[in-house]
Amino acid sequence: MTMIRCISPVNGEVYAERPAMPLELAKQAVAQARLAQKSWAKRPLDERVKLVLAGVARLNEMVDEVVPELAWQMGRPVRYGGEFKGFNERSNYVASIAADALKPLVVEESDRFERRIEREPHGVVFVIAPWNYPYMTAINTVAPALMAGNTVILKHASQTILVGERMVRAFVEAGVPADVFQNLFLDHDTTAALIAARSFDFINFTGSVEGGRSIERAAAGTFTGLGLELGGKDPGYVMEDADLDAAVDTLMDGATYNSGQCCCGIERIYVHESLYDAFVEKSVAWVSNYKLGNPLDPETTLGPMANKRFAATVRNQIADAVSKGAKALIDPRLFPQDDGGAYLAPQVLVDVDHSMEFMREETFGPAVGIMKVKSDAEATELMNDSQYGLTASLWTKDAERAARIGRDLETGTVFMNRADYLDPALCWTGVKETGRGGSLSILGFHNLTRPKSFHLKKVTA
Ligand code: NAP
Repeated sequence: MTMIRCISPVNGEVYAERPAMPLELAKQAVAQARLAQKSWAKRPLDERVKLVLAGVARLNEMVDEVVPELAWQMGRPVRYGGEFKGFNERSNYVASIAADALKPLVVEESDRFERRIEREPHGVVFVIAPWNYPYMTAINTVAPALMAGNTVILKHASQTILVGERMVRAFVEAGVPADVFQNLFLDHDTTAALIAARSFDFINFTGSVEGGRSIERAAAGTFTGLGLELGGKDPGYVMEDADLDAAVDTLMDGATYNSGQCCCGIERIYVHESLYDAFVEKSVAWVSNYKLGNPLDPETTLGPMANKRFAATVRNQIADAVSKGAKALIDPRLFPQDDGGAYLAPQVLVDVDHSMEFMREETFGPAVGIMKVKSDAEATELMNDSQYGLTASLWTKDAERAARIGRDLETGTVFMNRADYLDPALCWTGVKETGRGGSLSILGFHNLTRPKSFHLKKVTA
């Protein structure tokens, strides 16, 4: 029997394991989901919304278990208290717009005709979630998909294997029928076989570009709708009129929070030459304040990376950049807890350029490169010089200028004077290899439903 294992970054040992579900059993689970969907969709919207929110509330009651469990599974320090703020904010927001987002688009309602576009659930939605924000990334699709009348099958990352199980337990204890929301422990082959067998009516995949490619390949020819939320290499641009301290604070937090393992984490920063030296100096001081260590220790502000192989990627990228002339500004002696494995010191690199993998490939660790620029045009060109496009964070007092630059950026979200935040009222989307589709907002509901046109002629003449 194949086991799916979470190796804890805290001590390198197996923290949890579950047997991978055989294909035949997985197919049965999908069949139950399909059967349950018809009656779930017939329940009033209000009832579905209430049940989903009850599931969210039940999970909140499990906070004392959730927080240390996350630390063990993926290394997030317990002092940050889990993901409840974003998890609740997103759930409550999508609940508040569900009726509006799902209401029919009425074109005509007259004596002669009823013409409208209604929204129907897809059917069975498959959610494949990553470990980096395991609750928040999953809820982005799980909550609106269920509210819209779909049933959901969740396959969570091996690194956070207990998260799907816990989410489903919370929702079922709160009254969501067991066949309506199921967690399956699936290996890659079984996942691909289910997709290829047209088991699902829509798939939302959040994860790496390589993973996204595999899912797209598995779905080829099945015409299954796909939402792909993939990697990023998000830039920040600090203009000469920026609030320097706020820029350092937000961009450094965006670069290093969660050990830099955020899809919209800041990975490269372009600073106007007039602020460059001050920005670099303050950034180094900011980052040097971190306390790297065991995530179960409440004093720890920077935990290990989720897996030593992720840390190895960051180490290799830094070493490659340094070998090509980059300068690493964080003194390793400040972080004696760096063990060469999952526990990785944060890093700030200067003298970087786009010939280096560090400035082009996703790093997904607590390390950032800073470059000097002279103009908006130069910054725009550099920001767009990437195969990814998730968010870009612009720092200026001039909203018109930010909007103008933003229109030229190849990105899913343009931020001004903020970064690294998912606004549930806006569409979370990407361009280029960051994927396609969109979650949250009214558009997220539209992606989880399909239009059905009604053209009813009331007279025969
Ligand atoms: P990953 O390795 O691609 O895994 C993501 C999920 O997909 C996991 O559940 C994984 O299962 C599964 N998976 C991967 N390859 C698969 C395959 N060939 N067949 C079936 N399932 C497969 O990504 P990750 O390391 O967990 O997450 C980090 C990545 O996610 C980063 O690139 C980050 O930028 C991206 N991300 C993007 C967003 C966004 O909104 N755009 C949000 C969060 C994260 P196993 O764990 O069992 O392999």
